[in-house]
Amino acid sequence: MPEAPKITQKPADYNLELKNKKILQFIEDMTSNADEVQKTVLEEILSSNAHVEYLKKHGLDGRTDRDSFKNTMPVITYEDIQPYVERIANGDMSPILCSKPISEFLTSSGTSGGERKLMPTIEDELGRRSLLYSLLMPVMSQFVPGLDKGKGMYFLFIKSEAKTPGGLVARPVLTSYYKSSNFKDRPYDPYTNYTSPNETILCQDSYQSMYSQMLCGLCQHKEVLRVGAVFASGFIRAIKFLEKHWRLLCNDIRTGTIDSKITDPSVREAVMNILKADPKLADFIEAECSKDSWQGIITRLWPNTKYVDVIVTGTMSQYIPTLDFYSNGLPLVCTMYASSECYFGVNLNPLCKPSEVSYTLVPTMAYFEFLPIQRNNGVSNSISVPKTLNEKEQQELVDLVDVKLGLEYELVVTTYSGLFRYRVGDVLRVAGFKNKAPQFNFICRKNVVLSIDSDKTDEVELQHAVKNAVNHLLPFDATLAEYTSFADTTTVPGHYVLYWELSLNGNTPIHPSVFEDCCLTIEESLNSVYRQGRVSDKSIGPLEIKIVEPGTFDKLMDYAISLGASINQYKAPRCVKFAPIVELLNSRVVSCYFSPKCPKWFPGHKQWSNTN
Ligand code: AMP
Repeated sequence: MPEAPKITQKPADYNLELKNKKILQFIEDMTSNADEVQKTVLEEILSSNAHVEYLKKHGLDGRTDRDSFKNTMPVITYEDIQPYVERIANGDMSPILCSKPISEFLTSSGTSGGERKLMPTIEDELGRRSLLYSLLMPVMSQFVPGLDKGKGMYFLFIKSEAKTPGGLVARPVLTSYYKSSNFKDRPYDPYTNYTSPNETILCQDSYQSMYSQMLCGLCQHKEVLRVGAVFASGFIRAIKFLEKHWRLLCNDIRTGTIDSKITDPSVREAVMNILKADPKLADFIEAECSKDSWQGIITRLWPNTKYVDVIVTGTMSQYIPTLDFYSNGLPLVCTMYASSECYFGVNLNPLCKPSEVSYTLVPTMAYFEFLPIQRNNGVSNSISVPKTLNEKEQQELVDLVDVKLGLEYELVVTTYSGLFRYRVGDVLRVAGFKNKAPQFNFICRKNVVLSIDSDKTDEVELQHAVKNAVNHLLPFDATLAEYTSFADTTTVPGHYVLYWELSLNGNTPIHPSVFEDCCLTIEESLNSVYRQGRVSDKSIGPLEIKIVEPGTFDKLMDYAISLGASINQYKAPRCVKFAPIVELLNSRVVSCYFSPKCPKWFPGHKQWSNTN
């Protein structure tokens, strides 16, 4: 029997105004005392972990003050702790990184050696994540009143999980959160009143999950005050799903029955609590969906929607025009900034323009430090951050309250769950301050060149994948003269495009299947987050190779030089974003090829044999 959802009634003494006031006061207090809070957080982390192997090895000797910490502990990346992580994954339960038991691994969308990074976490972190979530709606309600009077239509999904050889669960942070009782058994709160029943969110089958969430969202269309997903890409996928399946959905609404493809009994039961035969509503949806243009479909189908709640900062900004189109320019709201390592902060001015979004780091979440970043100004304006830091560079890290307006930093965290001076890889710029706490624009993830959904492909991975693929050209005496890449989000789902300029020395024609093999080889060589997006989440479309005319990359160089690039320093970019450059490349395409099938992907790390 599926577990019946807990009915969470409004308690008689529930006082939303008072609750909101307390939360806003908490934000005032934390940001006003940011430095003191940070000092306490570090002391707490270091004293409770004084005896863990990692701190002992570095000789911290139980000291908990900032100076000793900074003078003793190195600034690290994932590769530095990977051996410790592997021991934990293999079942070593001794206090290696953290004194509290590691409850599970959170699998990051950042990868190392092609596999998701494994972030150890502890039970307590759930409380910290819930706290950050609890800040979002009181902040929002200052700007948009009445959000407690209706529902949020959020498309939320879980992903597959695996077991490490030592038996710990490894799964993405949101899967962990949605499966936790903090989410499933959440007490009454008008702000977590969603159109999607828990069972539809917790359904492992992504088609059934999306279908049932959309059906419930349509049935409750008048109650919906806000819509969203975690990332912009996910929300657009939901709209595309509607475009493809609205006839089936309308049929269900007309008849009050659920399509037979929805087989999960708990999902069917949960949906049946909401679905009632409503021919009028079915007619209305049908009329709207059959119109030629889908412009403004969100406001047409969900007329009381006040904003779209999705992350559109970082690489997600590529989806802003599409969202504007579907929502007729409703505010796009980015509420929070978080990761598997740690939840970081909230946007205190959520109705601002996407380009102005800044996140205030919440000082209780972790101990934060900031590594100053140099911009190689000149043409490339590239970011330069050393991979490993020497002693002088380690001394350059500054504390939360000491960052300077306008400067850029790489975020470094020390968490309650065993990361000490860990470089997250995100580049942030100080945009302002809330009391003593800085507010940051998200600038980029270091080194990432291509991203469609949560995949993050860096230049080295791309280069390696291309190198593997060009082996298919050897028998034809053809070589790759130049290449670049582009994240094409004009298709849904978006897909990677590689522009290839070839040098052809032989006379044997190259059959299209050879280029298709090249596409597939590239996909097989990319990291597991990319391949999961292709295979399991279907959030990334087949990779495309576009062969361009000889001389195209010379034209690209001419164009860059006309814009001020130095001829001596010019290197073909490995990724292009600037629309005129993409147009130039597209205007010289002679043929296109797509990956003929999905690459291989399995849940868990490739070296784990007991994946489920
Ligand atoms: P993961 O570890 O898979 O949860 O991914 C976390 C990463 O996603 C962060 O380190 C950022 O690079 C990115 N990210 C998370 N929140 C935001 C946001 N609000 N804006 C831009 N990027 C974000």
